[in-house]
Amino acid sequence: MSPIADRLLMGPGPSNPYPEVAAALAAPVIGHLDPAFLGILDQTCDQLRTVFATNNPLTLPLSGTGSSGMEAAFVNLVRPGDPVVVGVNGLFGERMAEVADRVGAQVVRVEAPWGQPLDPQQLLEAHPSPAIIALVHAETSTGVANDVASVAAGRGDALLVVDAVTSLGGMEVAVDAWGADIVYSCSQKCLGAPPGLAPITVSERARAHLVQRPSSWYLDLSLIAGYVEAGAGRAYHHTAPVTMVGALHGALRALIEEGVAASRERHRRCGKLLQDGLVDLGLELFAPETHRLAQLTTVVVPGDLPHAMSEADVRRQLLTEYDIEIGGGAGQLAGRVWRIGCMGHTARPANVLALLGALGEVLGR
Ligand SMILES: *Cc1c(COP(=O)(O)O)cnc(C)c1O
Repeated sequence: MSPIADRLLMGPGPSNPYPEVAAALAAPVIGHLDPAFLGILDQTCDQLRTVFATNNPLTLPLSGTGSSGMEAAFVNLVRPGDPVVVGVNGLFGERMAEVADRVGAQVVRVEAPWGQPLDPQQLLEAHPSPAIIALVHAETSTGVANDVASVAAGRGDALLVVDAVTSLGGMEVAVDAWGADIVYSCSQKCLGAPPGLAPITVSERARAHLVQRPSSWYLDLSLIAGYVEAGAGRAYHHTAPVTMVGALHGALRALIEEGVAASRERHRRCGKLLQDGLVDLGLELFAPETHRLAQLTTVVVPGDLPHAMSEADVRRQLLTEYDIEIGGGAGQLAGRVWRIGCMGHTARPANVLALLGALGEVLGR
């Protein structure tokens, strides 16, 4: 088997990990109850509090990718028949509605067309007394940002669940200032670690509402708290993925040394450089300027690709000839857009310029 090429990862995730991650991945494996590992775990939870901007004691890296954070949020909060308002303006809002439905919620969908932001007022007025209001902060399928702060400000007694999978590290996520109740993310997008963990934070209010004996044993946050929280006796629940936690710890160290605000600003600058460059190539951006993400850019596939290439041919050529990965469209946008991520350690001007140069060559522009 040939060695895996060193790709520039500019799709919707994973992104290229920070250099601090490589060192962590090469460290010896130690036990999940070894005090040396528990120290790393405790530090990782502290780092996550910094990045989430929260003091929530129950803040941890969940074993599993971003979707496990989504499952954990609903399986631990929803009781059968609970009215749950879900904002749906892309693939991940759609997935939230599906997951909430599977755990027995009475799902109230509030939709916006793919490519448009959700209307916060519509979310707030969708039900007289929702148990939960849930929305995606950064819709990776469309490149559109939703206005979480406005929904948070008006949510009343409802618990607020926020998908911050593509936003954490790349734009402002202010869990305590919002008063959000469960916010989850993933390791492999703007945090710059490999896929495998879902950082999650749970407010004290949400904690008081946790379902007793949720239908998922593995994602039972109360049981997991018994291991993660130092004062809880470190009861064995499942074997913590020690190497992945070490990798996330390294990535978060890089992020926090740079500064959470500085990292955000770097993502913003790189996104702007990328988007201006794409427009200079004569390409059309899909997301409206007012709600456009910096870390994930959607580009309309032009109708006049050279040499009768398909949009997939363009992506394949970028990958095989330039070692650059970009993403295709997902769901109803399949074949219609490209998705270009600029997240984590990938978000540097040299990478943006490399992609713009390669794309210009492939498109003959
Ligand atoms: C990537 C993504 C997910 C799912 O994360 P996985 O790590 O693929 O499980 C959920 N929500 C959003 C907004 C995402 O971008």
